[in-house]
Amino acid sequence: MNVAIIGGGLAGLTTGYELAKVGHQVTILEKRSTCGGQVGTFTVGGGRLEVFYHHIFWGDGEVIRLASEFGLADRLQWLDSRVGFYHRGKIYNFVTPLDLLRFRPVSLLDRLRLGLVGMYLRRYRDWQRLEGLTAREWIIRWAGRRNYEVVWGPLLRGKFGEMADQVSMVWFWGKIHQRFASRGRLGQREKLGYLRGSFGLMVDALVERIQRIGGHVLTASPAARIRVEGGRAVGVDVVGQGMITADRVIATVPSSTLLGLAPEISGDYRRLLEKARYQWAACLVLAISQPISPIYWLNISDPSIPFVAAIEHTNFISPAEYGGKHVLYLTNYVAPESPLTTASAKEVLKLYLPHLKKINPSFQERWVQEYHLFRDPAGQPMVGVNYSSNIPAYRTPIAGLYLANTTQIYPQDRGMNYSLRLGLAVARAVLGDMGREGGGRADGQ
Ligand SMILES: Cc1cc2nc3c(=O)[nH]c(=O)nc-3n(C[C@H](O)[C@H](O)[C@H](O)COP(=O)(O)OP(=O)(O)OC[C@H]3O[C@@H](n4cnc5c(N)ncnc54)[C@H](O)[C@@H]3O)c2cc1C
Repeated sequence: MNVAIIGGGLAGLTTGYELAKVGHQVTILEKRSTCGGQVGTFTVGGGRLEVFYHHIFWGDGEVIRLASEFGLADRLQWLDSRVGFYHRGKIYNFVTPLDLLRFRPVSLLDRLRLGLVGMYLRRYRDWQRLEGLTAREWIIRWAGRRNYEVVWGPLLRGKFGEMADQVSMVWFWGKIHQRFASRGRLGQREKLGYLRGSFGLMVDALVERIQRIGGHVLTASPAARIRVEGGRAVGVDVVGQGMITADRVIATVPSSTLLGLAPEISGDYRRLLEKARYQWAACLVLAISQPISPIYWLNISDPSIPFVAAIEHTNFISPAEYGGKHVLYLTNYVAPESPLTTASAKEVLKLYLPHLKKINPSFQERWVQEYHLFRDPAGQPMVGVNYSSNIPAYRTPIAGLYLANTTQIYPQDRGMNYSLRLGLAVARAVLGDMGREGGGRADGQ
C-alpha cells in the first residue's frame, strides 16, 4: 500500500521504517531541508550537535536498541552528569545525596523532605492515582511550601510559565521517576547517555535504511493539505509538487498543524486537538572560548535571569569534539505570545549576555565566538490534570488518517525514546487496520 507520512522527525521516520520493512511503499514528507525535527543538528568547530540539548537516560531502551541495530552501540557513552542549581547568586551542586544536605537555601528538615520525596517517587508506580492532582498541590503537601517556592516551583514555571500551577502531578512523577532511574540503587551519581557524533546519526541511519528498502524521504516538501474524499484520506498536497496519492496518511505534526491540514476533522477528536497547548522551546547556543562553569546542567532559580537553564554541553562531551570550542545552550520555554518567539538571534544574545556574569563574574563578551538561535513552537506539550482523557487516539475520525505526536506521550514526558515507541505503536495500528480491511501485507506478505 502507499503510505504518506507527514514529518521527518523521529516519530515519522520510525513509522516509515517499520512500514517499509514489511513491504509498503512509504513516502516521508519533511518541510525542512533536513530530517530530524526536534533532534535536528548543526555544526560547531567541525563537530555535529543537536539544535536543542539532548541526552538519554538508562531507561531509554528504545534508543539503546535502535543505536545497537544501526551499529552505533560503540558510540553510545554513559557519563556522569553534573547538575547544579543557581539560586541568589550562588551555584549549588545537585549531584550526590550529600550535595542535597548542603543545599542551604532551605532548612535541614526541608532538605531531608526533598530527598525522601525523591526516593518515594522513584519507587512509586501507581501514577494513575495522581491523575487528579496538580504537581503544585502534591509537592506543597508532601515536600513543603518552601521546597516548592525555592526548588520545584521555579523549575515548573521555567518550563510551563503561567500554566505551571496547573501541571499534572503525573508529569512531575514521570520526570522524577525517569531521572532517579538513571542513578544507581543507592541514589549514586546520575549517568546520562550521549551518542558521540550526535543523535543525528540515528536520524541519518533511519533515513538511509528507509531509502535502501525502497522508501522515499522528500525534504523541503511541506504538506499543505490532506486530501479527503468520502470521509477517507486519499493523499497529500505538497507545496510545489502537487498531490501524492496514498492509501494511508500518518501525520506526525503538532495537533494544531493537523487541524490546518485536515479541517474536515470534527467532533470530539477535533476538540481534543484544539485543546492541546504547547510551550515554545527557544534555545540560544553559544560557542565560547572558555567554560562558564564546571556544571553540565545548571537550573536557574532566579526570576531576574531571562533563561531557565544554562546547559554546558562541553561539560558532558569534550570540547575537543567541537574544535576546542565550549558549547553552552541557554534555554527557555515560553508561551506563543512571548517576544522570544519572534526576536532575532542578536536581540536574544543582547538580552542574555549581561546575565552570564551572574553565573561567572569573570565572563567576558569577547568569549563568545558564535551564537545560534533555534526555536520550536511545539517544544513542550502542556500536561494538565486528568490528561489521559485529553489524549487523541492514533486513529483520527477520517478513515486512513493517523496521528503520532508528542501530545500522545504519557505518563512519561516527551523524549526521543517515547517518540520512537510512538512510531512503532502507530505503525502497528496501521498494519492491524490494513489486515482487518483486507489490504494485505499486514504481515509483510
Ligand atoms: C528543547 C528540547 C530538548 C529536548 N531534549 C531531549 C533530551 O534531552 N532527550 C530526549 O530523549 N528528548 C529530548 N527532546 C524531545 C525529543 O527531541 C522529541 O521527543 C522528538 O524528537 C520528537 O519527535 P517527533 O517526530 O514527534 O516530532 P518533531 O521532531 O517535531 O518532528 C515533526 C516534523 O514534522 C515536520 N513538519 C511540521 N509540519 C510539516 C508539514 N506541514 N509538512 C511536512 N513536514 C512538517 C517538522 O519540520 C518536523 O521535522 C527535547 C525536545 C526539545 C524541544
